[in-house]
Parts: sequence; structure tokens; C-alpha cells
Amino acid sequence: MAEDLTDIRGTLESERRHLLTQIDELTVGGEIDLDFDDDFADRGQVAGEQGENQVLARTLQTQLDLVDRALARIDDGSYGTCTVCGDEIGPERQAALPATDRCITHA
Ligand SMILES: [Zn+2]
Repeated sequence: MAEDLTDIRGTLESERRHLLTQIDELTVGGEIDLDFDDDFADRGQVAGEQGENQVLARTLQTQLDLVDRALARIDDGSYGTCTVCGDEIGPERQAALPATDRCITHA
């Protein structure tokens, strides 16, 4: 494995741990609680907070999926190529967005 991929893997793995920690703080019993609780829904402030947490949890989960897929692509050797056109993503874009699976054209 090329040395730059080792660095990127380390970046992705630390990003993954960070995301898991954040998601864990928003979840109940290890599951993301995306359903409104009826009791909370009657209480405006709590419901609003719950809604913000849902949006944040979804965003974090989406990022986690991207990171997981990037790690899987490092393992199967397809990392660094665009999933749309197959072209090289390019080292600068990869360094800025290590989890990206698309070239600048298909971002
Ligand atoms: Zn592309």
C-alpha cells in the first residue's frame, strides 16, 4: 500500500471515531432515535431540539457512510477513482476531502 493511502486511512479512521462519538451522543441505546416521541412532540422546545438532533444525526450518519465506503475502497484498491467516471480524483482533492468518492466534475 502506498504511503499516502496509509495517511489517508489514518485520517479516515480518526474521522470515523469522531463521527461515532458524536452519533453516540445523539442516540438512544445505540440506535439513532429518528422518531419523534409523542410526549416530546407536545412540548415545543424539546421537540425543536429533538428535530435539530435528528437533522444532525442524519448528517453525521451520511458522513459516516462516506467514510466507511472510502475505507472499503482503500481495502479493495478502488480508492482514489471517481465512482461516476472512473477517473483519478486527484491528490489535492483527496487531501481536502478524504472520504469523497467523486472527482471534481461529478462532486
Ligand atoms: Zn468523475
